Amino acid sequence: MAMNKVPGHNIYIGGIFSLKNKAALRRANVTHVLSVLRLQPTDDTFLHYQHHHIDVDDVEDENLLEHFPSAIEFIQSGLETGGGVLVHCAMGKSRSATICIAYLLHRQRSVFTPQSALALLRESRPLCEPNSGFMAQLELYHQMGCPKEVVSHPSYSRWLYRREVEESVACGRAPEMKSILFEDEQPRQRTDATSESVEVKCRKCRRKLANARFAVPHGAQQDVKAAVISECAHIFLNPLTWMRPSLFPNGPDTLTGLASEDAPLSGRLTCPNPSCGSNIGKFAWQGMQCSCGEWVTPAIGLARARIDISAPVTIRRGPGNLPPGIRLPPNMRPSGVDTTTVGPRSERDSTKGSL
Ligand SMILES: [Zn+2]
Ligand SMILES: [Zn+2]
Repeated sequence: MAMNKVPGHNIYIGGIFSLKNKAALRRANVTHVLSVLRLQPTDDTFLHYQHHHIDVDDVEDENLLEHFPSAIEFIQSGLETGGGVLVHCAMGKSRSATICIAYLLHRQRSVFTPQSALALLRESRPLCEPNSGFMAQLELYHQMGCPKEVVSHPSYSRWLYRREVEESVACGRAPEMKSILFEDEQPRQRTDATSESVEVKCRKCRRKLANARFAVPHGAQQDVKAAVISECAHIFLNPLTWMRPSLFPNGPDTLTGLASEDAPLSGRLTCPNPSCGSNIGKFAWQGMQCSCGEWVTPAIGLARARIDISAPVTIRRGPGNLPPGIRLPPNMRPSGVDTTTVGPRSERDSTKGSL
């Protein structure tokens, strides 16, 4: 099948055979060729073109996302010189379409979604169909705001971490310590003061374990606060620094770099306070089923029976003086003396510097 023009752009999509059709390439004034496939250039096919090569397979777990910025820059450079750009893979169906969609998203983020950009491609090339893994990467890219740089983006790190956990678990082993994304060690994003002020503590020793911003909602839980105050038997969390000894009881072998060769796939979570050390929950990299029936993968869960939740209790001084606090059901109201804070200022102060 011939190559097809992306409507409204000097970009063409094609399969490997579109490279053979020199006349068509000349007619389209193609000056730049972007190859998105595993390919060993053996001849002078690309001699007369600016050429960029992305060495990937058309499989769902291939990381094409990390190549979006270089591909977009290359397409951009071709268009700026006034030439046409051919984006090709083997069939002109999945990989090349993904790259063209990424370009459209980057150029006009507010105009396109991955689906609507795909619809545009299909106007001229109906067979375009990124595999589901690539569509998910396009969705993530769109959510990230279609940045010029993806690998330094926190959402990318999280996505990579999840992939690595999935891959390890598929091989029946725990992920390596170095691939774990400890959320409390990540650069702070926009945070919400209310989720910061909802704290989770060890019931036995009162050691602070997390605040709501590290919670992982599941099932019907809409946000991190819902995850903390739900009725589920566990509060699921992202990995945090204090969990290292529980997750990797054998420690990192820094000499060999074989950090977690025999780290357990699942086990108990222990309170990080050395004089407490009580069992406060469990983890299972392969996931576990919550009491509500939902599967959470990976699962790092604090047992609700072993922890206390403290949330600011709003004391009303007068109408409209204070923002509403979080109201917990009576059976979950905090009991400790250190749990009452008044107003937003003291909420912030009480969490400063901790965790
Ligand atoms: Zn404790
Ligand atoms: Zn649940």
